[in-house]
Formats: sequence, structure tokens, C-alpha cells
Amino acid sequence: MRDFTFEMYLKLIRQISATGYQFQTFEEFLLKPEHRVVILRHDCDIWPGNDLKMAGIEHDLNIKASYFFRIPHTFKINIIEKIRDLGHEIGYHYENLADTNGDYVKAIESFRKNLSILREIYPVKTVAMHGRPLSIFDSRLLWKKYKLEDFGLIGEPYLNVDYSKVCYLTDTGSRWDGNNVSIRDTVISKFNYSIRTTNQLIEHFKGDKLPEQILMNTHAARWNNNFSIWCYRFLLQKFKNTAKFVLKQIQN
Ligand SMILES: [Zn+2]
Repeated sequence: MRDFTFEMYLKLIRQISATGYQFQTFEEFLLKPEHRVVILRHDCDIWPGNDLKMAGIEHDLNIKASYFFRIPHTFKINIIEKIRDLGHEIGYHYENLADTNGDYVKAIESFRKNLSILREIYPVKTVAMHGRPLSIFDSRLLWKKYKLEDFGLIGEPYLNVDYSKVCYLTDTGSRWDGNNVSIRDTVISKFNYSIRTTNQLIEHFKGDKLPEQILMNTHAARWNNNFSIWCYRFLLQKFKNTAKFVLKQIQN
């Protein structure tokens, strides 16, 4: 079975469930965390149609996840409404400081405006930064100057999760050990596993080798069943990982 397809995602979710984990949205986890839980977070970077497919797969399994949308890149009202109607959480995938080249006043204004646009569809309570690797501006820095609470928000996964307790897994770079190629999609954590493929991750769940609380970030656009798009993304990812690795070396 090819990796990073919806079949593989389904296999992973089934194994997580079989190992006895509950699933929660990020909002639910912040309000009332389960003891043994996987929080399903999806960053909708491009191709929201893929997110809708993923949302349908989860809905068929009776599972709820959190979908974070960029504006304008993945802001497709009818798709977001459908994902909401499947019972998932909707959040804002913000990048305002990168958008405004570091202008805090303009950035917070666009944040406020975009949040209100999304709130016409869903009562958004959480936001997650989109880590644009090629921008020098880290949009999380907005929260050094402003407060999430002032916007009626209860959390941001990079800021409001204790990663000494919660294990962070991300498919960034189409691999599960992408910390050394990711520039911003990374957290400081004591957990360190050598997991590269989804099958290896499934084996870790099967052997119950992972902690009780896990935040798993997946990008639906990476999980593609169309073979030519899959090949294109595979090659593009190889190129991007090399470029990001070089960038990170320069930054370090
Ligand atoms: Zn993103």
C-alpha cells in the first residue's frame, strides 16, 4: 500500500482506535481533556476538497477533528459548511504577520477581520499558525503583543499545549520525523521517536509505545489517492525538504 493515501489514513485511524484512544477536537481537549486521547488537527493549506474527503472518512468512523482554514487560500464557504455539518471543529489557520511583512497593526486588523468572516460559518474558538517557511515573520509573535482571550479564543496549539505531556506528531514533509526539515511546524518536546512512514507509526500504536495524550497534525492535501498528483507531490516534497534543510542549516 502506498503511503500518504486515504486508505493509509483510514488504517492509521482504525489502529489508534483499536489501541484504545479516544479522539477529540482541539476545542474539546482544551475544555475537558480525555485521559487517553488523540487530538486530530488538520491544517488546510491548499486543496480544501481533500479536507472534505478526509472529513467524510472521519465522519463515517464517528470521529470529530479540527480543521484550520487559511484566508483566502482555502476559504471555500460551501466546503467549510459541509465539514462543519459533518460535526467537525472549524478554526482559523492564520499567517497575518507574514502577510503584512511584520506590521503588527495591520496584521491584527486582518486577523480580526478574517476571524469574523469565519465566525459567520462557525463559532471559532481556536486558531493555529500557518508556518510559512519562506517568510522571515513568525505569525505567532502576534501573541506577544495581543491576547487570544480578547478575541474570544481559548487556544492555539503552538502556545496552549504542554508538550512535556502531549506528544506532537506531524506529517510535515510527508514523513513523521520531519522535525529536522520543518522550520516552524515544530515544538519543543521530550518525546522523540524514530518514525518515518505511516506503517511505522501504526506499528508504534499497535505496540502501545506512544504516550497517553497525542496531538496529530495532518494535511489532507498530502494524503492523495490520485497517483499522478501523488507522484508530483512526492517529487515536490523531496525538493522542498532539501531546500528547507539547507535554510535551517543557514538559520542555525
Ligand atoms: Zn499550514
